[in-house]
Amino acid sequence: MDDQISDKELLESQEVEEAYQRLIDTYLSTKHRKKIDLINKAFNFARQAHKGIRRRSGEPYIMHPIAVAQISCEEIGLGSTSICAALLHDVVEDTDYTVEDIRNIFGDKIALIVDGLTKISGGIFGDHASAQAENFKKLLLTMSEDIRVILIKIADRLHNMRTLGSMIPSKQYKIAGETLYIYAPLAHRLGLNKIKTELEDLSFKHEHPEEYREIQAKIERTQAERDLVFDEFTAPIRERLDKLGFQYEIKERVKSPYSIWNKMQTKHVSFEEIYDILAVRIIFSPKEPDTELTDCFNIYVQLSQIYKAHPERLRDWLNHPKANGYQALHVTLMSHKGEWIEVQIRSQRMHEIAEQGFAAHWKYKEKTGHEDDGERELEKWMRTIKEILDDPQPNALDFLETIKLNLYAQEIFVFTPKGELKTMPQNCTALDFAFSIHTFLGSHCIGAKVNHKLVPISHKLQSGDQIEILTSKSQHVQPNWIEFAATAKAKGKIMAILRREQREQQKVGEDILAQFFTSHELDYDLVYLDKLVEYHQLNTREDLLQSIGKKEIELSDNDYNVIRGKNPGKWRRMFSFGKKNKDKKVEEEGNTGSNEIIDFKKTIQLNEETLRNHYTIADCCCPIPGDDVLGYLDSNNKVIIHKRQCPVANKLKASFGPRILSAQWDTHKQLYFLANINIKGIDRIGLLNEVTEILSRKLDVNIHKLTIEVNDGIFEGQIQLYVHDVEDVQTIISNLKNVKNIKSVNRIN
Ligand code: MN
Repeated sequence: MDDQISDKELLESQEVEEAYQRLIDTYLSTKHRKKIDLINKAFNFARQAHKGIRRRSGEPYIMHPIAVAQISCEEIGLGSTSICAALLHDVVEDTDYTVEDIRNIFGDKIALIVDGLTKISGGIFGDHASAQAENFKKLLLTMSEDIRVILIKIADRLHNMRTLGSMIPSKQYKIAGETLYIYAPLAHRLGLNKIKTELEDLSFKHEHPEEYREIQAKIERTQAERDLVFDEFTAPIRERLDKLGFQYEIKERVKSPYSIWNKMQTKHVSFEEIYDILAVRIIFSPKEPDTELTDCFNIYVQLSQIYKAHPERLRDWLNHPKANGYQALHVTLMSHKGEWIEVQIRSQRMHEIAEQGFAAHWKYKEKTGHEDDGERELEKWMRTIKEILDDPQPNALDFLETIKLNLYAQEIFVFTPKGELKTMPQNCTALDFAFSIHTFLGSHCIGAKVNHKLVPISHKLQSGDQIEILTSKSQHVQPNWIEFAATAKAKGKIMAILRREQREQQKVGEDILAQFFTSHELDYDLVYLDKLVEYHQLNTREDLLQSIGKKEIELSDNDYNVIRGKNPGKWRRMFSFGKKNKDKKVEEEGNTGSNEIIDFKKTIQLNEETLRNHYTIADCCCPIPGDDVLGYLDSNNKVIIHKRQCPVANKLKASFGPRILSAQWDTHKQLYFLANINIKGIDRIGLLNEVTEILSRKLDVNIHKLTIEVNDGIFEGQIQLYVHDVEDVQTIISNLKNVKNIKSVNRIN
């Protein structure tokens, strides 16, 4: 018996040694300074600290920190400080050691990073929205102190996602949801494109295993076809570049399963209709370090002599790198077979930055002496985040949304009247632009001249626009401006200004009210305030003070009578404490009740009885039997069934993980559900007739609603039908697809 255990232990310790050796080998092959001793020390410390602890998968716990360090070094390009911090990242959280211990042994820098990682170790999102925003703020704050905190956190998350199967199922949802909601966008924003793609694919694979497999299979099945296109398309390019003596590599870029699926969902197209699954990458070594940009353009000139370039799809990320540091020249060319193919031209350096992001900048920093645009952009972004953090935001979820908005934004270029270039997120407005230049310009903006034409502040900007902001001293920030702003910066400023004004108005209101009380010989009593709140049909005391401050309410004898109880007709329930208290009570009841009734670990079965009596189908995504679904326990103890891919559900998953229940369909074609189908085709006489014929006669389906539009001969229809499940929908779709002239049939939300 004893021998067996020690055999197993021996084998395990061998595995640990091997994993660690691989880490050291990877580190030694990088260009970092060689601080092996420190890394050894960190490894031995962590190994001893986690001794005897195992992951759920059964392997020794230390395998996890080693893997996180491996990712940090190999895939993000970080050095010894980060490797040590990664090895130690769970020590403070999971063992008796403190940050002080780490500081004494490993110094300030490593201790600071470990501290940052420990603070956010519970996941960014706690069980309550407010706690979640707090944690997220902490993360952003430590991040702005040392960016390595978030880089290692992403490595940690990537390893957890790769080994998601060995987590508790109820945690899996939360982790996958959080990953898609915040970590993938963060990885994107930091330029870690490869990791971002893997995080998305892993979340997708976990949440929609069926769809993932299907798309994966289709990608494999069509690979030979794409190889052929690729070979034919690149042959003449190779010939030219060889002749000119370029050192280069040409690669196929195949769209990831998640982005294919995402496009299918958002554009309502089938796999076969996605035209940009294949793109071509030309990665070259510059002839001289400083001919990099010219080389890119020279290669472009060669390409444009072989193939016709799309006039509107030239993207110059060379002179204007993306905010995450991405540099490349993108062109779209017409192949000899008549297909548009995107070609991305990059140097080896640009390629590494594209894959590894920010960390790769360090590698090239001293070597080339390039002005480091990526780093500068990153700093700018972190400054914006700091500005937002400086203004306390009352609503936690709004805050997250605001930050998230800035993580994924596509970028456009616009110009100031003096021809200065500014990078702005896509879909931003004249108002965003005004705030990006100066708070004063934003808060007094009355409109703008875009390309010399007068436009309102809500005007959406396009790449290449020249913008002159028009201001007026009498202009003030209005509450509805929030809807006109797309950037976190502008939204944050507008909200801060509005809150400040509200506080000022409340103060004025308070003074007026106090005077009113004094002149009527009344004490300043909160009960009187509540009476007035009720009388004026407002919600809170703050609302009342504000309305008085804004002179929307002029206090009169009526108010005095109300306070003295002389006008009982207008107000009755004088002792209700207003909305706040009532809400609180409901919430408390909801919380205590929930744990008694619902068993979180059990998968809920959706059958006829439960659906009729206990559960509600969400109207945002309208799931039907056969869809991948989950349940969300709301504060009234009702379970709402969402599709797993539903954006609302994604937000709930990330924010209220513990309230998410796994759910399974168990119905037997008894209940009816509404499904939406979109059909497109070329119009002809009798088409609509044939469609309705198939639905009502052949398939005996009940149509709830049908809208048809014909534009320039294109027929587009939305049909709402009663069905039992996904199988019904598939039968309907395949029948409709056979109708002549119909080009696509899709289920939509
Ligand atoms: Mn960890």
